[in-house]
Amino acid sequence: MRRTKIICTIGPKTWDKENILKLAKGGMNIARLNMSHGDHEQHARTISYIKEVNQENGFNVAIMLDSKGPEIRSGDLKEPLPLKVGDQLILTTQTMPAYPDYTTQINYDGFINDVEVGDVILVDGGMINLEVVQKTDKDVITKALDDGKLTSRRHLNIKGKSAQLPPITDKDWKDIDFAISQRVDFFALSFANGGAVVNKLKEYLTEKNSTIKIISKIESTDAAINMKEIVDASDAVMVARGDLGAELPIEDVPMVQTDIVNYCRQTGTPVIVATQLLESMMVYPTPTRAEVTDIYYAVKQRSDCIMMSGETAGGNYPFKALQVMDTVARRTEQEFLSDKTILLNDTNVPKNEMALGSAVIANNIEAKAIIAFSLTGETAALISQCRPNSKIYAFAGTPEVQKQLNINWGVESFFLPFDDNDPEKTVQQAIEGLKKRGMLEVGDKIVTVSNIRAYNESVLAIQFRLIN
Ligand code: PGA
Ligand code: MN
Repeated sequence: MRRTKIICTIGPKTWDKENILKLAKGGMNIARLNMSHGDHEQHARTISYIKEVNQENGFNVAIMLDSKGPEIRSGDLKEPLPLKVGDQLILTTQTMPAYPDYTTQINYDGFINDVEVGDVILVDGGMINLEVVQKTDKDVITKALDDGKLTSRRHLNIKGKSAQLPPITDKDWKDIDFAISQRVDFFALSFANGGAVVNKLKEYLTEKNSTIKIISKIESTDAAINMKEIVDASDAVMVARGDLGAELPIEDVPMVQTDIVNYCRQTGTPVIVATQLLESMMVYPTPTRAEVTDIYYAVKQRSDCIMMSGETAGGNYPFKALQVMDTVARRTEQEFLSDKTILLNDTNVPKNEMALGSAVIANNIEAKAIIAFSLTGETAALISQCRPNSKIYAFAGTPEVQKQLNINWGVESFFLPFDDNDPEKTVQQAIEGLKKRGMLEVGDKIVTVSNIRAYNESVLAIQFRLIN
């Protein structure tokens, strides 16, 4: 069982039911739908396929809707525009029936106020760079710093700055309502810029009686500055290195990633490392050595999840990419999973006594698994935060919680209605179930942690058991 979870973005190359099944078999834990592309009809179809694949084959793949957010984009072009170093390109907020050559519309009026002469604008994360040389009240006049070809609706970032767009756009609110009606498990909030916007979304979800968990994407200069407050407000966090690397100096990204993952681990917030982990596999059947090392680092930091974007959505080798991610993660985990002292030497392990206690015992006795009985998922999440060597089998009180535990490192979750009168009955049922699945055998040592009504309403039991 792999401890690091894998998120696959579903797109044209994978949105058929048979391909979703293939990804599930290949080890996808969470399917991500990117609201920057496609319409609700297409996404609803994909969601129903994922649910069918789960039901028909006993998988437990969770669903994440990722918002488009306040992206700045260039306008439509009749045909790709070749740019040479020094060429002038005008980005205009004016709407015209036809645009002169070397002029393209920008989708957001405030852009004029966000940029200054001398700023550098990155097209598609830096595929072409443009320098702002002049501003009028309607136009931003730029000079190309690179040769390249500008195509329609390209993603733009201002280097070192965050655009002052509202973090949740009108489209995003519609997508949030769609997410609620589709009962997805996670909503990824693009360009979260502080704790306030996360709380605003949280309040809205509560108002609508939704149990969707919020994953805040840290992908802007503002977000990097307000990182701790965002993490504190969020259910989970994504290190969205694409936009982050466009807004921040690119050489800062590895350190920012390290800081975010460490802080998330200390606070017990699930964290996803995202973007370009296997970018070259969009085109080639084999990853670069550098990409393998990148996955190694994210897994070695013991991030909860690693993610694929275009690799599985639109690349040439979606299944090979998943296989590479899976094998590299497993190989990396082998390196640390046998170290009994790792937990006690790890400064990122949060100090929840109950969770830490169970994890230390499990490491010491080399338990096959820690079995957590977790109505709300909290107990299981607390144990996961300790990153014990043993697997964590979590028995959740609801199917929603079972799905949402997909994001937590090292947790394999099941749904089991709890016996309110006799907690031991629930434990025995769980053990029998695991034996039937071949996940436990006679002679295995396990640690059970139960927060159900064991002995007393509020007493939590950590027990060592030998399977017989
Ligand atoms: P995106 O987010 O793929 O939705 O842009 C991830 C990132 O920016 O890294
Ligand atoms: Mn992004």
